[in-house]
Amino acid sequence: MHVHIFWDALSPSGFQVPVSRIISSVLGVRTTVSENPVRLMGYNNARHQVDAQALLDSVQAYKHRHGIDDPVLLVVHQDLFRNGNDFVFGLAREQVGAAVVSTARLGNEYYGREHHDDDLIDRITKEGSHEIGHLLGLGHCENPECIMFRPNTLDELDRKRKMFCPDCAKQLEEITAGF
Ligand SMILES: [Zn+2]
Ligand SMILES: [Zn+2]
Repeated sequence: MHVHIFWDALSPSGFQVPVSRIISSVLGVRTTVSENPVRLMGYNNARHQVDAQALLDSVQAYKHRHGIDDPVLLVVHQDLFRNGNDFVFGLAREQVGAAVVSTARLGNEYYGREHHDDDLIDRITKEGSHEIGHLLGLGHCENPECIMFRPNTLDELDRKRKMFCPDCAKQLEEITAGF
């Protein structure tokens, strides 16, 4: 098994390889990164955001059409929402192995701070690992430093470390041992 990362052409470029490598080491699974082949749907004119569920529909359909069983993480630049949430950093649909992460709110400049490549790579990596964690069968974790903690703000995302807490790490090990 390995995880496919589909990188949208308009997502920040130059970060594909480091993000893919770090996600691979955080999760202990193989990853490959390629330019996103999935047509992006779900733009909402009134909100100027994209419906994350619609993107997952597209990824799900693409996987089905191409017979891809492995987990897929889509990285896009548009801001995402879903019913009931003003925005989401990312979303996973466990049953079909499809997840999406948005880089829109992961750069310092979104918050009026100075841009740093390392911060952006760090956050895409954490968000990506979190959503893939769901695809591998992990739920949310109460430990604020754990990858599976659900952050509501950038500060909460930054407080997380690029690793799983001992409990989640143990679960993950049991899951991936079967691959
Ligand atoms: Zn989550
Ligand atoms: Zn945990």
